[in-house]
Amino acid sequence: MPRTDTVLAEARVAAAADRLGRGLVKSVVTAVQQDCRAGRVAAEAVVGEVLARLPDRADTGTPVLNATGVLLHTNLGRAPLSEAARRSVAAAAGTGDVELDLATGRRGQRGAGTLAALLDRVPAAEAALVVNNNAAALVLAATALAAGREIVIGRGELVEIGDGFRLPDLLASTGARLREVGTTNRTVAADYAAAVGPDTGFVLKVHPSNFTVTGFTAAASVRELAGLGVPVVVDVGSGLLTPHPVLPDEPDVTSALAAGAALVTASGDKLLGGPQAGLVLGRADVAGTLRRHPLYRALRVDKLTLAALEATLRGPLPPVPAALAADPADRRRRADRLAARLRAAGVEATAVPSDAAVGGGGAPGVTLPSAAVRLPAGLAVPLRLGRPAVLARVADGYCLVDVAAVDEADDHRLYGAVRAAAGRPCG
Ligand SMILES: *Cc1c(COP(=O)(O)O)cnc(C)c1O
Repeated sequence: MPRTDTVLAEARVAAAADRLGRGLVKSVVTAVQQDCRAGRVAAEAVVGEVLARLPDRADTGTPVLNATGVLLHTNLGRAPLSEAARRSVAAAAGTGDVELDLATGRRGQRGAGTLAALLDRVPAAEAALVVNNNAAALVLAATALAAGREIVIGRGELVEIGDGFRLPDLLASTGARLREVGTTNRTVAADYAAAVGPDTGFVLKVHPSNFTVTGFTAAASVRELAGLGVPVVVDVGSGLLTPHPVLPDEPDVTSALAAGAALVTASGDKLLGGPQAGLVLGRADVAGTLRRHPLYRALRVDKLTLAALEATLRGPLPPVPAALAADPADRRRRADRLAARLRAAGVEATAVPSDAAVGGGGAPGVTLPSAAVRLPAGLAVPLRLGRPAVLARVADGYCLVDVAAVDEADDHRLYGAVRAAAGRPCG
């Protein structure tokens, strides 16, 4: 078997290493050597096999088509970015005017364009801040406004956001004390009023975004709490900037500010459809306190996030909000067309109605009428291992390819991926 150095020194392999990176090429050489040792590749065929296995480009990561019917799939990176946002990220990856005013040539406010875009979309806010994620926004608010003091919070809002992370632990880690009021199912304004005092940093309202409480329940409104004389911070979670007709129960930034919230925090990569980010909007004085705290420097976002967020806010509707706004009849038509094309190619496929969901710990219990292509269950694994990979749903002994979370522009790739998984590749 040829030695690694010998293979890497071969002219075509060396040229590939210049183009793709030595680390990537070496990993392919090692894999082929293993196959050679196992008798699957002849010693004299090693170089040819290495060249055949090298990718065209040095891009990392496997593209996955989300056919689960869950719009925000946490394991798939939550919201996919819009084309405009992806192009902006690529452009920003070089050098740009992140902290430079090109008109004067002087240092400018970091991410000024992104903050202006955010304030244009939420005129009810006097000021905005962008940090790493919503969890970071809450940590910053707790540290800057309530370290060594109390955060008053209703017992029904002490939520676990996922993967074992609990909001109360996150807040307590900042040195703020949690002053819990009310009960799991019922908390009223008087409970908060009785707890508020000179030691109160702020009152926190957290949207219980990933579960519902029904029956004998009560919660205080932001408007009621805004009258208590201390700042009210509202974590709306999903990142809706204004009310959404399809999700009437989902809180939004504008309504919370109109009701008197001093600050609202939200995620950038949920229903807004942008990059991972924590959005903080609200009163200039309170936002300024966060902005000036040393911790802000440790939580600020990079230029790629700023670029993606600005394009998300100013550009065309990103895939997630577009899917929310889509006509269910469109999904049915797409599933019908996909199933018909697959049947014509000899694949066992039927279009069926399906229930899609928002996901990402948002809008629990809300189903979106959708449509799927029903395939034999045995296709689920080959679909997942293909390129692009397709993540489908397995239910009732079938593999369901739901179109709700797939961009219509990707329907052809989805078709090709299913054909390939069924052993009937195109061409
Ligand atoms: C998702 C969510 C969070 C966590 O947001 P990240 O951006 O993932 O840090 C916090 N609070 C609520 C209400 C949420 O829905």
